[in-house]
Amino acid sequence: MADSPLLTFELVTLFPEIFDDLLRASLLGKAIAAGLIAVHRTNLRDFGIGRHRSVDDTPCGGGPGMILRVEPIAAALDAIAAARGPARRILLSPQGGRFDQRRAVELARLHRVLLICGRYEGFDERVAGQVDDQLSIGDFVLAGGELAAAVVIEAVARLVPGVLGCGMSAADESFSRARLEYPQWTRPPDWNGQAVPPVLLSGDHQAIEAWRRRESLRRTLERRPDLVAAHPLTPEEQALLSAPEPDRSR
Ligand code: SAM
Repeated sequence: MADSPLLTFELVTLFPEIFDDLLRASLLGKAIAAGLIAVHRTNLRDFGIGRHRSVDDTPCGGGPGMILRVEPIAAALDAIAAARGPARRILLSPQGGRFDQRRAVELARLHRVLLICGRYEGFDERVAGQVDDQLSIGDFVLAGGELAAAVVIEAVARLVPGVLGCGMSAADESFSRARLEYPQWTRPPDWNGQAVPPVLLSGDHQAIEAWRRRESLRRTLERRPDLVAAHPLTPEEQALLSAPEPDRSR
């Protein structure tokens, strides 16, 4: 068990129970049990206003749905800071900047990350003044921020040193260098006439490394040309693509 967690997530949500299984199972469950990461859940309802602990109200100017009020959120943030200290405060919103691997790497370097999950029609605009950043997990609208928070937690936590099991590395994976990962196979070497590329069974580590890099580039060019447009091929990558192929047979 680590002395103190390397990274602590604070969650502000109206539905803390949504995270029960996520935080118990698999990689996250083990990382929490090992004390590498910690997750604190704060129920926004505890900071609601009046006898009914109200957290929302109708939109000024009219319109459908309800809007989360600023006062309960500000009170929850103050209480968390007083109890456990400051954190990078992030509002989950479809209107935020796109969450991607680069953002995940940035967040994994922090010690405390606070995620605010919205519901209903979203937040009073004054909540934006209470946070450091706003993040979206994609161009679609979820019913609430809990699943978005789960995505952020899982993507960030696996980058915390020690969270991935030994022998596993996030360094070569898709997006780590603005490229998709190379294709992979396991046993059997031949299945229904579909053979593993012989170079991968050759034991020639240099040839395997060159083959994988080339396949990673090919796959990225084919499936995600936008990544290559944003991060053009280096002279080394261009040379790799035009080099004679040792073996591409399937
Ligand atoms: N009315 C808002 C709009 O059009 O921008 C959408 C509100 S949505 C129904 C309710 C909450 O779900 C949001 O406040 C946010 O916390 C969360 N949410 C929905 N889609 C999301 C996304 N793509 N990324 C991050 N959070 C999202």
